[in-house]
Amino acid sequence: MSVLTVEELCHTYSAHTPFEKVAVEGVSLTIPAGQFVGLLGHTGSGKSTFIQHLNALLQPTSGRVLLDGEDIHKDKASRRDVKRKVGLVFQYPEYQLFEETVFADIAFGPKNMGIAKEEIDERVREAAGFVGVDESLFARSPLELSGGQKRRVAIAGVIAMRPGVLILDEPTAGLDPAGCRQIMDNICRYREQSGATVIIVSHNMDDAARLTERLIVFDHGHVAMDGTPEEVFSRPKELINIGLAVPQATSVAMALRERGMALPEAIYTHRQLLEAVKRAKGVGTC
Ligand code: ADP
Repeated sequence: MSVLTVEELCHTYSAHTPFEKVAVEGVSLTIPAGQFVGLLGHTGSGKSTFIQHLNALLQPTSGRVLLDGEDIHKDKASRRDVKRKVGLVFQYPEYQLFEETVFADIAFGPKNMGIAKEEIDERVREAAGFVGVDESLFARSPLELSGGQKRRVAIAGVIAMRPGVLILDEPTAGLDPAGCRQIMDNICRYREQSGATVIIVSHNMDDAARLTERLIVFDHGHVAMDGTPEEVFSRPKELINIGLAVPQATSVAMALRERGMALPEAIYTHRQLLEAVKRAKGVGTC
């Protein structure tokens, strides 16, 4: 399993032109193997730019990204290695489905890695299983599928490369609540069964609160907050000040505190809210 280390990462688009834009500045952090990380931040705060550095799609303007202690831009072999070990699922990945069948689309990555046919078959079935794509769909054209199914096929295509680090940029964007839940369940299952590190960019504070172990909050290209959901959501005013929402339970707890109810700081799930309200009102907890 791989450890990612980011050292003083800066990225400037269109440097030395009138369109120059500093998108990420001075970001340093380490992501240990197996961690489930949520990346939060308003639009334009640098999240997509940041994650594209983690699998060498973008080259730092300055600073370094290390995978297992080695600079991912050291040479051609290191860049190839990082692309195999760090899988990146873009926003709306279904727009990149282009093969004639679902099977061929999921198989595309492993095939490019030069993997033997029997193993490709095994990987495609395994990846499809993780994301709940039934094998009866393998011969169909991806274009015939529903939006949610297409998204799952696209994610399976990355999972089939068995990346030790899986990064997803807003994997539930544009899906209905049932579709969102399915995708998040699939990702959690992949993580549990593979032990992979998962980094997920999300606007859904409730998912971030419920599922991740660590939250990194971006603001204007910098890391504004970095901690457990408990640590980050005990500072709801700071989140609101940088233009972010807070989980539903956190905002209800804030409103109750303003009305004088004595509630602890770190409330970010419905269960915590319920228990805290019961305690505050002196009702027995279960
Ligand atoms: P986020 O993912 O948080 O929405 P981005 O990383 O996409 O943020 O963008 C960070 C900043 O960089 C924004 O101001 C955005 O307009 C700018 N930016 C992103 N991509 C490019 C690009 N290819 N060329 C120039 N500026 C860009």
